[in-house]
Amino acid sequence: MAWRSSGATNEALIANLKKNGLIESERVKEAMLKVDRAHYAPRSPYDDHPQPIGHRATISAPHMHANACETLLPYLAPGSRVLDIGSGSGYLTAVLANLVGPSGTVVGIDHIQPLVTLSTDNMSRSEEGRGMLESGQVKFVKGDGRKGYEPGAPYDAIHVGAAAAEHHQVLESQLKAPGRMFVPVEEGWTQHIYVVDKDERGEVVKKKLYGVQYVPLTDAPPE
Ligand code: SAH
Repeated sequence: MAWRSSGATNEALIANLKKNGLIESERVKEAMLKVDRAHYAPRSPYDDHPQPIGHRATISAPHMHANACETLLPYLAPGSRVLDIGSGSGYLTAVLANLVGPSGTVVGIDHIQPLVTLSTDNMSRSEEGRGMLESGQVKFVKGDGRKGYEPGAPYDAIHVGAAAAEHHQVLESQLKAPGRMFVPVEEGWTQHIYVVDKDERGEVVKKKLYGVQYVPLTDAPPE
């Protein structure tokens, strides 16, 4: 199912993701329609596959971006604050920005400076993207995402786009109460998506979803 959603255009890809049940809500559909993947994926942008973007990074497959948005959706209201760790191409950061609207903020953090530059350039390819960068609605920063990004905390939602070696406590501490994190976590040779929910009282519950294959969340390569 996941791999059968490719299309000839951005609209066709998103229509197929919806038809196949990978996009469930109108809100996620509208947010994804507003971002042309061709601005973020160098080749075959409308294929439902991950694509290399250089520096050993990949832009995740569209069905993973859709599922991340659907999973975080209750915490992506107009005005919400979001942290996108391992922002890579910047595609998901842009979709998340559409979901939280002009009164919300999304910080994309990556530890490779050329990818921080790439995501900024990718987003600048559309007028809407340029507006989001100029207004500060979206910000791309360089840093170690395992430490989160304290200046923007606490966050309603945290998305982690690379597989963590452990459940990083500091990321949980940067979640609002209530708030939600979507994070792939390594377990031996496998990786699973976890949803980490913090409730109003600050209690944290982790739910294991499904197996995935992500780039690891690592030390930065030497510059
Ligand atoms: N969501 C991105 C995924 C990019 S791949 C997209 O769909 O385009 C994962 C990214 O995580 C890579 O860009 C990599 O540079 C970044 N990354 C890996 N370890 C990191 C760390 N410790 N801190 C910040 N970013 C990291």
